[in-house]
Amino acid sequence: MAKYTEADCRLCRREGCKLFLKGDRCISPKCAMEKRPVVPGQHGLGRKKVTDYGQQLREKQKVKRAYGLLEKQFRQSYEKATRMKGVVGENMLSLLERRLDNVVYRMGIGDSRSESRQIVNHGHICVNGHVVNIPSYTVKVGDVISIKESRQDIEKFKQLKGIKIVMPKWLEFDSNKLVGKINALPKRDDIDLNIQEHMIIELYSR
Ligand code: SF4
Repeated sequence: MAKYTEADCRLCRREGCKLFLKGDRCISPKCAMEKRPVVPGQHGLGRKKVTDYGQQLREKQKVKRAYGLLEKQFRQSYEKATRMKGVVGENMLSLLERRLDNVVYRMGIGDSRSESRQIVNHGHICVNGHVVNIPSYTVKVGDVISIKESRQDIEKFKQLKGIKIVMPKWLEFDSNKLVGKINALPKRDDIDLNIQEHMIIELYSR
């Protein structure tokens, strides 16, 4: 599968906001958006007039990069959202939030979405008692997410025991038992990224 291999922090600088791609570093003074919040490259400090199309494109790239998706995967989420009842933009964000790799990240099991994707890929996560190693798997209300019993001795997971994890209210995670649950579908207010999803819909409706 194609993979983005450049420095993650360049993506944040390009989009002009924190995308939280590197775990703890993102909330430390070492964050590149704290130290040098300008577009990377020779013309980063220059001011350019941005067209409507340019703004829409940037908004799409921002969301796509925050969730670590390729264009095709992102487009599929949009297409699926158009077939659902309700507001397309909100449906799309809800689908992205309900990806298993994102849920693992939100529950605090992985420090970043990319690490969480790896955790899922490596078969450490169970949904309703069965291993699911597909990061794009969409969780539903009532699903129980747990760390596979035979993997709970891995240092990374042992360190989770007993710690207090802040997470959106549609999720819960018991860090002593290493088991979590999907309590509700994520609402627009639960998604903390600064996103203007209507621009993405306008872009794809062109
Ligand atoms: Fe880098 Fe994280 Fe800061 Fe983005 S938010 S610039 S990924 S440290």
